[in-house]
Formats: sequence, C-alpha cells, structure tokens
Amino acid sequence: MLNIVLFGPPGAGKGTQSERLKENYGLVHISTGDVFRALDPESELGKLAKSYSDKGNLVPDEVTIEILEAEVSKHPNAKGVIYDGFPRTTAQAEALDKFLSAKGTSVSMMLSLVVPEEELKSRLIARAEVSGRKDDADPEIIQNRINTYNNSTAPVADFYKAQGKLHEIDGVGSIDTITQRLFDVIDAQ
Ligand code: ADP
Repeated sequence: MLNIVLFGPPGAGKGTQSERLKENYGLVHISTGDVFRALDPESELGKLAKSYSDKGNLVPDEVTIEILEAEVSKHPNAKGVIYDGFPRTTAQAEALDKFLSAKGTSVSMMLSLVVPEEELKSRLIARAEVSGRKDDADPEIIQNRINTYNNSTAPVADFYKAQGKLHEIDGVGSIDTITQRLFDVIDAQ
C-alpha cells in the first residue's frame, strides 16, 4: 500500500495537491479537516469539532483518531491513502503507526510542503473569499492556526524524519510545478 502523509502548515496547498496525487496514483484522499466540516453541525460531534476548528485550535486527539480510523476503514480495498491534515500531533502519528501496523502496512513517506509564513497568510486571506471558512477570514485565527502548527504539529515531521521517511518539498511556485516536485519524490521511491 502507498500511504502518503501530506504535511505542511495551513495554506501550504495540501488539499490542492492531494487531488493531483489522488488522480495520478489512484489513491483515496482523506482530509480530517474536510471530514470535520462534513459533520452534521447540529450533532454533538459536529458541534464539538466546530468549537475547536472555528477558533483555529486542534480537535482533541481521541476524537480525531477515532474519526480518522473510521474513515480509513471505509476503504478496505484502497491501493493507497493520502493523509491530508493528519497526523497533526505526535500522539496521532503514534496512533496511525499502530493502526496501520495492525493492518500489516505502514506509512510509506511524509511529503512536507515548505511555505514561508507571509505567503501562507496571504493565501489564506485570499481563500476566505471562496472557502467561506470562518477560520480563513480572521487574521487572529489564522495566526493561531500557524502558531498551533509551529508548536504542536511541526514536531510530527521529526517523528517521520527519525524513521527516514521525511521529504521536504518547496511549496512555492505554480501548482503544476509543485505537483511535479511531489511526483518526482514519489516516483523515486
Ligand atoms: P488547514 O490545513 O487549512 O488549517 P484543515 O481543513 O486541515 O485546514 O483543518 C481545519 C481544522 O480542523 C483545524 O484547524 C483543526 O481545528 C481541525 N483539524 C483537522 N485535522 C485535525 C487533526 N488531525 N487533529 C486535530 N484537529 C484537526
């Protein structure tokens, strides 16, 4: 199985590039952010997730891990999965390793999109116009998401680096250029 963790700060282009990878390699794309946004906003779980995501805070690990595992289990015959926005904490990375190892598989690689902070902020502000996402519209919430990334999520790269699975990719350039950079790393494996 080709299990790709697509990593990077908010606004790095994970969602856009996931679509390209999905098409090219025939993978299942799982974005925990998309899964949370698709929950019924009136349900207990939907309300809980929204109470964190609207502020730019992480949804608690137990909830996120359960949701991710349920989502992966919907695709028992997948030839591979792109994990977009997961794992975002070291505890989530450990849980994913355990979950995949019970299935006789493992994370193949982490592709980490590297984009400077100023560029992220301008991309997110521009995206707010089309996404309608509350967490894209407010500069303070954007800053909180970036800080949360730096404090809680960036260490996840070290987790995969220690396993020799980390690949950093320059995330600045045209969408096509970045797609090609990702393809080159995957094809070289
Ligand atoms: P972005 O990468 O643009 O910040 P996402 O769509 O990936 O946006 O995530 C939106 C929000 O959903 C996050 O700010 C967070 O509240 C929640 N979320 C998504 N994935 C996770 C995760 N793995 N762990 C905890 N919270 C998450």
